[in-house]
Amino acid sequence: MKTINDFDFKNKKALIRVDFNVPLDENFNVTDATRIEAAKPTIDKILADGGSVILMSHLGRPKGIDRKYSLGHIVKKASEILGQTVYFSPDCIGAEAEKAVNNIQPGQILLLENLRFYAEEEAGDVDFAKKLASLGDIYVNDAFGTAHRAHASTTIIAQFFPKDKCFGLLLAKEIESLNKVLKDSQKPVTAVLGGSKVSSKITVIENILDKVDHMIIGGGMTFTFVKALGGKIGDSICEDDKQELALEILRLAREKGVQIHIPVDVIAANAFSKDADTQVVDVRKIPDGWQGLDAGPKSLENFKKVILESKTILWNGPLGVFEMDKFANGTIELGNFIAEATENGAFSLVGGGDSVAAVKQFGFEDKVSYVSTGGGAMLEMLEGKILPGIAAILD
Ligand code: AMP
Repeated sequence: MKTINDFDFKNKKALIRVDFNVPLDENFNVTDATRIEAAKPTIDKILADGGSVILMSHLGRPKGIDRKYSLGHIVKKASEILGQTVYFSPDCIGAEAEKAVNNIQPGQILLLENLRFYAEEEAGDVDFAKKLASLGDIYVNDAFGTAHRAHASTTIIAQFFPKDKCFGLLLAKEIESLNKVLKDSQKPVTAVLGGSKVSSKITVIENILDKVDHMIIGGGMTFTFVKALGGKIGDSICEDDKQELALEILRLAREKGVQIHIPVDVIAANAFSKDADTQVVDVRKIPDGWQGLDAGPKSLENFKKVILESKTILWNGPLGVFEMDKFANGTIELGNFIAEATENGAFSLVGGGDSVAAVKQFGFEDKVSYVSTGGGAMLEMLEGKILPGIAAILD
């Protein structure tokens, strides 16, 4: 796996696909600069080598040229974070981009305008990719969030750099971390899958049954399993048409020797509300009019034992409706168990939109081994797919 550390960028123009798709407020201020910060190590190494940096990214989902989605909005923030002026080209290809690229000196940074102003980007157009490719000497992909898309700048472009292409440090770290869970994992391996629905996680569950020793199933998914097993789930969320599938997963797990752990008790509420009355009940005996919104104390005790015995832990999805304080305890406690296991030497990877939000909200970011930034891309890797953006560099 070639990374930027395998290249000397002195007097080279590095064309880097970054993910600067950051959230903006109504005045076009960057409200969360995590993604820009995440690209800094790669940019710094290239500048330190004496190379110049040309950044390309998408922002939002513009239909054609629409300056509301201009990457120009983030130039000030990017300059602040990267510690020097970030120059901006109001086009990502053509004469204007070429001129801007020619003006850039070693040690300087240029940001190209939103790639998605051209429909060719998402279409994976070869001519468009070739035009982009003409702007740099070495292609670097550091955008994990779009690695599962065969877009011009993420995948197609790589063919124009048969030897001079590599991963940025962020993307390399993502791949390495996922491989530590999926390929060269230390046993026992435990996956915690929470969130709302079985249907959105089913391919992940099926794929990782081959790779884990324990699977903790929590969150709203719990109730589809419990109902399928004959329990009474009251008004809890449930996908009735997935009950057969739930039983099939349990059967497969038995066959593969994977131990499945489902909550035995839950915090039930008489409404889906932060002001609801609550009680702890057996997960199989939830009264009508009540719904399970978080894992109960006995369940957490069981989960703790499993987590503390694990050497590798993957966490995707909250154990309850953590957005409401009353139902956040399970998710927070799980974070504590994983933090403790990590401190004792386990490798822990957290990923998937809502678990990342939970980890940040409750301050676990520095207590787990790695927090993955690419929601969709990570899920596809967990599903066992080969991501086109990664394959194009390895090719
Ligand atoms: P997902 O996007 O599938 O990972 O689901 C995350 C969402 O699942 C969060 O917004 C949680 O509030 C929600 N969730 C977790 N547990 C439950 C539950 N027991 N009932 C309803 N929603 C839940």
